[in-house]
Amino acid sequence: MNDEIYPVPTSWAQEAKIDAARYAADYARSLSDSSGYWLEQAKTLNWITPPTLADESSFAEADFGVRWFADGVLNVSANCLDRHLATRGDQVAIIWEPDSPDAAPRHITYAELHADVCRLANVLKAQGVRKGDRVTLYLPMIPEAAVAMLACTRIGAIHSIVFGGFSPDALAGRITDCDSRIVITADEGRRGGKAVPLKANVDAAAELVTCLDAVIVVQVTGGDVPMKTGRDHYYADVMAAVSLDCPPEPMSAEDPLFLLYTSGSTGKPKGVVHTTAGYLLWASLTHNLVFDYRDGDIFWCAADVGWVTGHSYIVYGPLANGATTLMYEGVPNWPTPARIWEVVDKHKVNQIYLAPTALRALMREGDSFVMQTSRASLKLLGTVGEPINPEAWRWYHEVVGQGRCPIVDTWWQTETGGHMISPFPGATALKPGSATVPFFGVEPKLVDADGKILEGAAEGNLVITRSWPGQMRTVWGDHERFFQTYFSTYPGTYFTGDGCRRDGDGYYWITGRVDDVINVSGHRMGTAEVESALVLHRSVAEAAVVGFPHDIKGQGIYAYVTLNVGEEPTDELRQKLVKWVRMEIGPIATPDALQFTPGLPKTRSGKIMRRILRKIAEGDVSSLGDTSTLADPSVVDDLIANRVS
Ligand code: ATP
Ligand code: MG
Repeated sequence: MNDEIYPVPTSWAQEAKIDAARYAADYARSLSDSSGYWLEQAKTLNWITPPTLADESSFAEADFGVRWFADGVLNVSANCLDRHLATRGDQVAIIWEPDSPDAAPRHITYAELHADVCRLANVLKAQGVRKGDRVTLYLPMIPEAAVAMLACTRIGAIHSIVFGGFSPDALAGRITDCDSRIVITADEGRRGGKAVPLKANVDAAAELVTCLDAVIVVQVTGGDVPMKTGRDHYYADVMAAVSLDCPPEPMSAEDPLFLLYTSGSTGKPKGVVHTTAGYLLWASLTHNLVFDYRDGDIFWCAADVGWVTGHSYIVYGPLANGATTLMYEGVPNWPTPARIWEVVDKHKVNQIYLAPTALRALMREGDSFVMQTSRASLKLLGTVGEPINPEAWRWYHEVVGQGRCPIVDTWWQTETGGHMISPFPGATALKPGSATVPFFGVEPKLVDADGKILEGAAEGNLVITRSWPGQMRTVWGDHERFFQTYFSTYPGTYFTGDGCRRDGDGYYWITGRVDDVINVSGHRMGTAEVESALVLHRSVAEAAVVGFPHDIKGQGIYAYVTLNVGEEPTDELRQKLVKWVRMEIGPIATPDALQFTPGLPKTRSGKIMRRILRKIAEGDVSSLGDTSTLADPSVVDDLIANRVS
């Protein structure tokens, strides 16, 4: 499998911003002359006071801290809006594609976006919001989400976006954790033809918190929602009452920009704090170079803004680069599994960025939904969120991209702010399933369980040995947890929590979270490997694999399998699949139990919550922990009911 290589297409090698020689030279310099390299890159931002300092971080306990460009002063909304007005005020900044294919899209220019942001910033000021205050955004995928983010940055308020699908409990927990006085929400959201009761959820959350005193409500569906006098205000009303003039607040490079709770797939969500300059530089530089974004391109990141991917690649990266960014209100497979590709054709999308989970769901429906569209505008395909199975990779490459579009498999985390390991489309030959090579300034290392650094081709725990501008700065309200979570396991390094293999060409292959590694009779196996083998079978749409206590082997393998449309979950198929894995990987990987399931427990960002699957496999269903961040908590009941023992 490792020998499958897709060379850089000649046209990309010739025309891309970063070719192989440039990658090698710039990567070397980004490490050997870090200050020089980063102060030069920082010039791509628009500063009020340019920085003279670059990296002042230390991962050592004694002088621990992460700081970049600390003497610089700038404003994020000015970088994303004001600086573009003279040259591209009339260019479309956001194309908004509504949930229903029959509803009208919106095209919002930089000048219009700027005006709305200034107004909303004035609304926030009128509500008493000051620099450093937290503002919770609980919004559907509508342009007002971007307006609200940028309005916060304009006045130096810190936004905290909570996924529109989260329950009142989850929302209340996040409002309280950051002590936010104000929530911006909508009457209802729309997803896949259904209404999502956002305002009702805010009302329920408000019963559980003590700090909330203002709610601004965008009218999306016009649904009849109760408004509490004195507390609740309609967006349109307050926007009409303020002036258009709002100068951007000068912010220190290290002032907090936003906080965002991680998806919670491994435990209690952490309020990840990102700061102003380093984050913006990281989001814009990675967007520019990894996607090879060109003026006039239409860029579509099909994530939710409530996920870090939406922050960095729907809003901050693209807008800082003066791009046209597409924002989609709906879901990939509604009204039909052709919708994504229809939207690509409708808006002539040039780069699309998707999660493997969405790809597998679409792949499961067969090729016909893809083939009925043109997709001729696509130049590049991206993926993020989990290791992509080679099977899904090839489908993306051959069927969706007709073999002509490079795939950038981008490995990164909420904590990293943007891409860390990813191909450069004009420089990196691709291997399906590998995130390939580090971005500029990123120094990945593999360590064994004792922290010993492994050289050459090896498999181990992925750590990053020096800071990069987009790194998170702290856990909101708990700096000690920041240090303990990421820097205490392998002292002097940032521990990613992920397992990883490096092959003989120096390519990185993420094998899944270290917590998910299974140890069968002394053999360590990444869950991604077994899952990829299962997904390779033509009947299987998706698989999740966990370990469970086994008397003889120490740990056994428990596989949860979702079948393709039209496949029957028979005992015969179950046995076939068990044999299949045995043949693909070897007898050591033979699943001990295999459960068919119509769905897997996923977070709203599409990640499988393996800790729940582990508990079910162990038969310990009484203590499933926090399930509030699940997209559909009801799948858990089905899993428990049909457990294989
Ligand atoms: P929590 O930290 O609360 O458990 P989370 O880790 O799911 O939440 P994210 O920061 O969105 O939240 O996810 C980052 C993780 O996603 C990475 O650590 C890695 O495990 C996985 N990941 C992301 N992109 C890729 C990729 N391209 N290849 C492999 N794994 C990826
Ligand atoms: Mg994580």
